[in-house]
Amino acid sequence: MSQKTEKHTFQAEIQQLLDIVIHSLYTDKEIFIRELISNAADACEKLRFRQSAGESIHEPETDLKISIATDDQANTITITDTGIGMTRDELIENLGTIAHSGSKAFLKQISEGKEKPDANLIGQFGVGFYSAFMVASEVKVNSRSFQPDAPGHAWLSEGSGSYEIEEAAESPRGTRIFIKLKEEDKDFAQSSRVESIIKQYSNFVPFPIELNGEVVNKMSAIWTRSKSDVKEEEYKEFYHYIGHDHEDPLTKLHFAVDAPLDIKSLLYVPAKNMESMGLARSESEVHLYCRKVLIQSKAEQLFPEWCRFLKGVVDSEDLPLNISRESMQDSALMQKLNKVLTSRFLKHLDSLAKKDEETFYKIYDQYHRFLKEGAATDFTHRESLSGLLRFESSALDKGKRTSLKEYVERMQEDQKEIYFLLSSSRETAEQSPYLEVFKARHLEVLFLFDPIDEIVMDHLGRFEEKALTAAEKADLAIEEASDSSHSLSEKEAKALAKWAKEKLGSKVEEVRTSTRLVESPAVVVDHDKTMTAGMRRFMKSMNQESGPMTLDLELNPRHAMVVRLSEMKSQNELLATRVLEQLVDNARLAAGVVEDPKTMVRQLNELLEQVLKTQSS
Ligand code: ADP
Ligand code: MG
Repeated sequence: MSQKTEKHTFQAEIQQLLDIVIHSLYTDKEIFIRELISNAADACEKLRFRQSAGESIHEPETDLKISIATDDQANTITITDTGIGMTRDELIENLGTIAHSGSKAFLKQISEGKEKPDANLIGQFGVGFYSAFMVASEVKVNSRSFQPDAPGHAWLSEGSGSYEIEEAAESPRGTRIFIKLKEEDKDFAQSSRVESIIKQYSNFVPFPIELNGEVVNKMSAIWTRSKSDVKEEEYKEFYHYIGHDHEDPLTKLHFAVDAPLDIKSLLYVPAKNMESMGLARSESEVHLYCRKVLIQSKAEQLFPEWCRFLKGVVDSEDLPLNISRESMQDSALMQKLNKVLTSRFLKHLDSLAKKDEETFYKIYDQYHRFLKEGAATDFTHRESLSGLLRFESSALDKGKRTSLKEYVERMQEDQKEIYFLLSSSRETAEQSPYLEVFKARHLEVLFLFDPIDEIVMDHLGRFEEKALTAAEKADLAIEEASDSSHSLSEKEAKALAKWAKEKLGSKVEEVRTSTRLVESPAVVVDHDKTMTAGMRRFMKSMNQESGPMTLDLELNPRHAMVVRLSEMKSQNELLATRVLEQLVDNARLAAGVVEDPKTMVRQLNELLEQVLKTQSS
């Protein structure tokens, strides 16, 4: 075996690649550390595999680890691992030729101008080793293979045209990469700078990373371990770290699947909904890994938008290394991942709802608006999402909530629709004239307190084939009262309605006899049934124009006041008119659609005056 130095020229494509790395990449240079650590971790992983396969290993007692040494006097950084190492031929093959498709794809991408040169691409295309040349004036690789009889070698290059290789028999097992930094990149010889880079990109590498003798990666990739091996405390600690949150999460979901895709994932729901705390729109904080190496932080395509409160990690071995950020966005693989992950998360919420209601409601109370947003916008998961919605209901005590599924189970035999009523509170809902017909017919009505609820119901349209219908739009009548002696005849009621319309003029569109009222004398409903009163209130509160309000007035022919009004209209038309106007205002008030409270007070005063006059005359 010769001791002398051999000189080799780089393959043309490699030289082309190196020229780009050296001359065109200026940003994100720090990723070279991530890339070299990732290679070191791969090398350790491979050794562990050989060892477990029972192969004989050089220096079997040596622990698997990665050591980094910085020297800010000499401006050098050295990255050493005790992994699988490389033989002479492997050094030549892996570091001097286009050994794998990544380099070709990288060059193609760059030369076609599809991507502007970006250091991050290097890792994504699997040509990470060469990223060292972004910062190096000289790279020296010492490597010794795990194979017991393979001597070590040193590989040396300045990145221009050629490299030298010579035997270095005494090298320990593994690989050491020594980098002499360019003048302008000497900050990578600062240990504090390097430490923060390691923590940012490589904190979960499953082998210890020592920096100048001290272990700096505290965390192992706990998502790759089996659930039974991870302590509750470790889950929390990991969350605090990646979530940048000192509070414990509300729930965690740790799972591994291998079909249809290989996925290991650990997801968390934070204790607080930051958006509801008046902070800006949340950004997904789920990071994408491939075999424990960070591919993309905050990979927002992993989940639909409504999941943007999630934090955690997704690790998939199915990700091709030559995937770029742009193509990741709409790749079929990403969509598949998204679908699997979202379904899994929804399944988790559903099982919480069944097995741990307390936790489910803690999550629901923080994040119901996200789930509703999803129910209204995410067609793929609409069914599961609508299954998670919860509302108060006329069939339950105040404060108790029901799912739509449970509502359907309680429905009357001939009932075809699911009814809901948007209102500001439980009390208002229970007092609502719109509820009367439902009470009389023992029909359940869901109480919605959040304006977004009605929007969601509108978007959903149906649940399990049952139409979701606003109480005010429901086409329902109470059964005819057996004792109709105190009620207006059909003829009288018609005459009253005709008279009322004459008096009210354009204030209402139509006046008719109501079939839905029991206790209230009158109710107003939207003439063209496009919008509920609750929705109008909401639009108004948002300073949104909800269009001109054309209301119909419905009069209750069984109500004593209405019966009296019918008699009075021919006896004292002035007073009858005042009462009628007040009746309309009261109905508007009950519906929450009073336009001008000042006019209302004036009318009320005029009415009182009339009443007093009548009494004294
Ligand atoms: P990739 O890691 O995607 O394969 P790189 O350019 O980072 O691409 O590395 C090229 C090859 O060089 C690796 O596949 C591996 O075979 C070899 N290599 C790089 N670093 C090491 C190391 N520390 N130990 C052993 N082999 C290495
Ligand atoms: Mg690599």
